[in-house]
Amino acid sequence: MADILGPEDSSRVPRFAGTPTFARLPRLDQVSHADIAVVGVPFDSGVSYRPGARFGPAHIRAASKLLRPFNPALGLAPFAHQQVADAGDIAVNPFDIDAAITEVQAGAGDLSSGGTRLLTLGGDHTIALPLLRAAASAHGPIGVLHFDAHLDTWDTYFGAPYTHGTPFRRASEEGLLDPERCLHVGIRGPLYAADDLVQDGALGFQIITADSLLTLPVSTLVERMRARLGSGPIYVSVDIDVLDPGFAPGTGTPEAGGLASRELLAFLRGLAGLRLVGADIVEVAPAYDHAEITGIAAARVAYELISVMAPQLMAPS
Ligand code: MN
Ligand code: MN
Repeated sequence: MADILGPEDSSRVPRFAGTPTFARLPRLDQVSHADIAVVGVPFDSGVSYRPGARFGPAHIRAASKLLRPFNPALGLAPFAHQQVADAGDIAVNPFDIDAAITEVQAGAGDLSSGGTRLLTLGGDHTIALPLLRAAASAHGPIGVLHFDAHLDTWDTYFGAPYTHGTPFRRASEEGLLDPERCLHVGIRGPLYAADDLVQDGALGFQIITADSLLTLPVSTLVERMRARLGSGPIYVSVDIDVLDPGFAPGTGTPEAGGLASRELLAFLRGLAGLRLVGADIVEVAPAYDHAEITGIAAARVAYELISVMAPQLMAPS
């Protein structure tokens, strides 16, 4: 294996100085091959309420400067045994959602063509659809683990089929998902109608609600999550509004009663040994953030996802 280029040495360059890449990692053009590429998609033209997630990638990168190289909870150094690099942003059309979706799919396909796994920083949740298209074209129908307050399996808004509230319905309709291995975690809050849940189930999803944590420990729910996801390829999509607004105020569609950061990180570490082929973190809208609370949470989500993709933990494909 070629030498792995890790984060900039914080004993030589202070964390608040130096490179603006994710976790102070090298840029993609500085390495010969990347096992994981962190890529931003600054797009928020698909939102139904507060805009601003187009500034999410830069905010998460800024908050990631404090990430350190060793993950004690998993007992590994996530940047030491796999090459992780920052691929910059995929430039997308802010005025044409269809064009933006095409651009994200093409950009993700190019970046992942050599087997590189993508960790995408959004952006609103619309981008999950083209990312799932790219992942499914490489792996076939995939299991989806979706952390969110919201189902995101609605049909249309104002007649529009491609929005941040519809990506998983479109993905299911397009045959991108393995309907036996899809799961939402953190669902809560008012729906349009009880039938929303019926339709969601018919698309292939099971649900662990946020309120499940009132009566069951995370460890029990992690076992249920792992049983649902099985041994096949998995894509993980984290809408930061899965966290309670107290842990992630900087988002577009906040819902009271959500997960604590600690609970979300425990779910993510519970993926160790499963076949994670890609992931995204979406809906970080820094204009509503305070003291980097949301950015710091999102950066740690990315760190745990990179950690569970480490070769020591990953199941062979
Ligand atoms: Mn949401
Ligand atoms: Mn969402």
